Amino acid sequence: MGFLTRLFSKPPVEISAGVYQLSAVGSTVTAIVEDQGVVLVDAGGRGSAPVIAAGLEAVGSSMDRVNLVVLTHHHPDHTGGLAAVIEMSSATVAAHRLEAPIINGNAKMPDPHQNKLFATVVRPMVAAMSGPSASVDHELDDGEFLPIGDDIRVVHTPAHTPGSICLLLTSCGVLIVGDALQYRSGRLSPPAAMVTQDAAQALDSIGKMAGLEFDTVAFGHFPPLRDNARETVRRLAGGASG
Ligand SMILES: [Zn+2]
Repeated sequence: MGFLTRLFSKPPVEISAGVYQLSAVGSTVTAIVEDQGVVLVDAGGRGSAPVIAAGLEAVGSSMDRVNLVVLTHHHPDHTGGLAAVIEMSSATVAAHRLEAPIINGNAKMPDPHQNKLFATVVRPMVAAMSGPSASVDHELDDGEFLPIGDDIRVVHTPAHTPGSICLLLTSCGVLIVGDALQYRSGRLSPPAAMVTQDAAQALDSIGKMAGLEFDTVAFGHFPPLRDNARETVRRLAGGASG
């Protein structure tokens, strides 16, 4: 196991039966492990592939079982490891149609930073997370189900980026939100304003999440929210809108 892999590897967290939060470089990924194969939600920053592979092995699976990688949004801490993950697996790639051109390299990544000083400080980190682009095989739209099984629904929740999506695992009541919400120190809040493209849209997107049926929320950077998850999201939506 290489230095980076050891540095970033943490034990997997079981979110629900067969659903795990795995460590990666710069963020976490969610793995949905089923008999037919594994769906990975996000791919971490550059260098994540061996870290994710170690996580999959720790839950009794492996990278070659991954047949779909879904990106919640295009930010490098979620997509920088994508090309290497595809190389290690036979996975196809899915993302919202508004994110696809950025992920596959056909469009320039918009500057994620809303604050110039903050941008100067973190730009080298963003560059270090960035990896080679990779083609997107499935361009997703709001309300559609992932092209695997019939269980995972795409919920378009723009704000953090225009094509940010949540994934609703309908059979186990898990809502995977990527960076569309934060759960810092046990407190649920809207996406981080300094790296959110259109903060005004967040209110509508949180309202949309509040209308879904789920018991647990999984994040890109925080531990899962398990207690009163739906009520907590509804309260945030209510508070945020009035
Ligand atoms: Zn992000």
